[in-house]
Amino acid sequence: MKLKLSKTGKIILAVSILLIGVLILFIYYRQENSGSVHKMESNEFYDIKIDYDKTGIKSIDEKIANFVKNKEKSFIDIVDTSGNIQTSKYNLIINTNTSNYNDVISVHALSYAYTGGAHYTREEESFVYDQKKKKYLTFLDILVDEDFNKISFLVLEAIYDYANERKIVLNEEWVSEGTNYSDANYQHFSFDEEGLNISFSPYQIASWADGEINISIPYKKLHGILKVEYLTEDIDTSIDTIIKPGYRDLEQFKDKKLIAFTFDDGPNNKTTSRLLDGLGEYNAKVTFFVLGSRVENNKEVLKKAYEEGNQIGSHTYNHLNLFLLNDEEILSEVNATNSVVEEVIGVRPNLLRPPYGNINDHIKSLANMHIINWNVDTEDWKLKDRNLIKDKIIADAHDGAIVLLHDIYTESVEGALLAMKELEKENYAFVTIEEMVQLRGVNLDYDTTYFNFLKE
Ligand code: ZN
Repeated sequence: MKLKLSKTGKIILAVSILLIGVLILFIYYRQENSGSVHKMESNEFYDIKIDYDKTGIKSIDEKIANFVKNKEKSFIDIVDTSGNIQTSKYNLIINTNTSNYNDVISVHALSYAYTGGAHYTREEESFVYDQKKKKYLTFLDILVDEDFNKISFLVLEAIYDYANERKIVLNEEWVSEGTNYSDANYQHFSFDEEGLNISFSPYQIASWADGEINISIPYKKLHGILKVEYLTEDIDTSIDTIIKPGYRDLEQFKDKKLIAFTFDDGPNNKTTSRLLDGLGEYNAKVTFFVLGSRVENNKEVLKKAYEEGNQIGSHTYNHLNLFLLNDEEILSEVNATNSVVEEVIGVRPNLLRPPYGNINDHIKSLANMHIINWNVDTEDWKLKDRNLIKDKIIADAHDGAIVLLHDIYTESVEGALLAMKELEKENYAFVTIEEMVQLRGVNLDYDTTYFNFLKE
C-alpha cells in the first residue's frame, strides 16, 4: 500500500513527530532530575548500599551527589589500601531523608562506614533550602530577629520530654553544650504539618547508643519566635486517629496456597503508595519491614499501609550490620524503630528482619522479637527489571514461601504486582506473616529464625 499525503498532511505529520520528540525529551529530563538513586554492591570484601531521593533542584542535587561521591571514594580508598585482612566485611551505607513542606526542602544526608575497628563512622550533612527565597537557610534565618534565646527554652523542654518518654538519662552538661547555639549544633532541621523538627546527632547531647534525638516543636508554641512565613496554621494532626486494620476472615484461604510477600527498606511515599494501590486487585496483604530512619518523612504512607490491613515489622533504624554493633547500639537500633513506628500506627512491631539477614542467638535475646528472614530471594536490587523480577518470583514460588523484595524500587513494586497477577491464577493467596502464622497454626517463639512456613 502506498501512502499518499497532501502537503498539509505532511506538515501535520512533521509537527506531530516534532511534538512527540519534545515530549519524550521532556519526560526523560523529568525522570533524570527527580526520582531516586539506588546502588547496591556486594562482594567478598564489602557491602555498599546507597539510597537517596533527588529533589529536582539542581544545586541541592549536586550537593547530595557530592556528599555521596566523597563518602564512597574515601570508603573505597580505605578498602583498597587495607589489604584483605578483615574479620568482618566492610560496610558502607548512605541515605538521605528529604522533607518538603511550605516551600522549604530539608535534606539530611547520612553515611555510615565500617572499615574495621569497633564502630561505624557516622558522617552527615544537611541542606535546608527555601524555594521561594531561593536560598539556603541556617537555623537563625527562620527565627524572628534571628534571636535564638526565645526558642532555647522550647528546645530544652522538647529534649527532656523526648528523653523521659524513652527513659533516656541525660547529662545536664552534655545537653547544655550540645544545645548552645552554633550552626553545627542546629544544622539538621525541617518543617512538617505538625511543626519544626530538629535532629541532634548521637554524641551531641546523649550517648551513641541513645541514637539521634529528634524533637518536634508544634507551631502553636512558635508564634512570635518563628518568622511568619514559616508558621503554619495549627491543623489537627490526623496521625492520632488510627483505624484498626480490618481482620480478614482466614476461612477464605483454607484451600489456597499461601505466599507472604515482604518488602524491606521502606517506607517510601511514592513507591510504597503505588504498591498499596495495586494490592487491592489481588486481595493481597503484605508485610513491610521498615527502617526507623525513614518513618518520620514517610509516615502517611506507613499509616495507610497499616490501616489497609498490611503488617508492619522492623528492619532496624539505620540498616547497620548488627554483628558490628555492641549491645547498647543493637538495642537502640531495635527500640528506636519500634518507638517511631508505634507513634505512627499505634502498635509496636513484634517482627524483626535484621539487615542482611544477620542474626545470632545473642542478638535474638537482646531484641526479643520474632525473627523473620526469607526463602525466596528475588535479588530485585540486582535485576532492576519488572519482568525479570516477576519471572524469578514465579519460578521460586511455593506454598508457605516468604518472598524478599524492596518497595523503594519502582521495578520491584511492578514486578511483585505482575507476579501476583499470575500466581492468583495458580490458586495462591497473598497473606501477611501474621495471617500465614495463624493459618499454619504456628506459635512463634523468640529463638527460631523463620525462613518459611511450610505445611507440616
Ligand atoms: Zn534491607
